[in-house]
Amino acid sequence: MIGRAVARVSRRAIEHNCTVLSERLGGSELCAVVKANGYGHGAQAAADAAVAGGATRLAVATAAEAAALRSDVPVLVMGALTRTDLDTALAARADVVAWTGEFVDAIAARGVPARVHVKLDSGMGRLGTKDPREASALCDRIAAAEGLDLAGLMTHFATADERGDDHFPGQLARFTELVDDVRRRHPGVTVHAANSAAVLRDRTAHFDMARCGIAVYGLDPFGQDPAEHGLQPALELTSYVAAVKRFEPGDSAGYGRTWTAKEPTRVGVLPIGYGDGWRRALSNNAEVLVRGRRHPLVGTVSMDNVTIDLGSDTDVAVGEEAVLIGAQGGERILAEDVARRLGTINYEVTTGLLPRAERVEA
Ligand SMILES: *Cc1c(COP(=O)(O)O)cnc(C)c1O
Repeated sequence: MIGRAVARVSRRAIEHNCTVLSERLGGSELCAVVKANGYGHGAQAAADAAVAGGATRLAVATAAEAAALRSDVPVLVMGALTRTDLDTALAARADVVAWTGEFVDAIAARGVPARVHVKLDSGMGRLGTKDPREASALCDRIAAAEGLDLAGLMTHFATADERGDDHFPGQLARFTELVDDVRRRHPGVTVHAANSAAVLRDRTAHFDMARCGIAVYGLDPFGQDPAEHGLQPALELTSYVAAVKRFEPGDSAGYGRTWTAKEPTRVGVLPIGYGDGWRRALSNNAEVLVRGRRHPLVGTVSMDNVTIDLGSDTDVAVGEEAVLIGAQGGERILAEDVARRLGTINYEVTTGLLPRAERVEA
């Protein structure tokens, strides 16, 4: 499909990536993380494909995300919840996470059945209790409370994507100690810690379940090439050449005249811009594929348009497809490449695509 700003999402790729992750996990469950609109891919489509690929659970960050999801498998809300959020999450029959006694009491006071996961902050310095004894006591309290089910014990790694660092093993050791203690009293609890990077990095971090986001979408948690792990990128971002114009030396393209032609050339105009999530920091700092060839993005990215240098002897015609993320001919541009140019991570590239970029099934 030719369109102005099209994010083509492959369910088959998501399914494949979940199969790859499930195989890595051996007997441990795969929980596919579909927060933030499935990292920009579309939450429901991603969830359906992930379950088809072997995910037995889903996770989101917010109560509203859980309420919007249709799912036959359990959904975990990982984030902090206001009392209103808690009502929304429980009404959606989602699992919730607790790390204080007050919050456990608030859940119990709702008087509805609830599945609760206890979170240890083993070194992320974010959500969770830092005290393993408190975490252990919360587990006992939940297990004893009427209507509450101790569903999980969890932590989250800060540096799983930095191979060879020594913070990760420290976090893993602190968490494992708590796990051994809690499992003795609550053998049925589902223990989970690993994100995508941890799954690929260390088998001993797999426990009963892993919470994978980025790898589900075929993006590399280490920011390199997803193919190294057998992962297939699930999203392509395309536009089309809406105009081709002749440029003489000194002619400029776009706001602020940040690029001027040095010699005669032809410039293609693509009707996609930062209003679609193709960031302005990519001005004079990106490549685009047309006819299987790389062309530099020239000039300033505006809200609705970008310009590319097609060269003086181009045969590119109006109406042809342009690929900003994805493969064409023998060339490909990864979200990881775009992230590097922006000084950010692949997560932010796809999650940053805005609603105006139309999501279609590949
Ligand atoms: C987002 C998130 C994940 C998924 O991390 P990836 O690096 O995308 O695999 C796992 N756990 C928690 C708590 C998260 O917030």
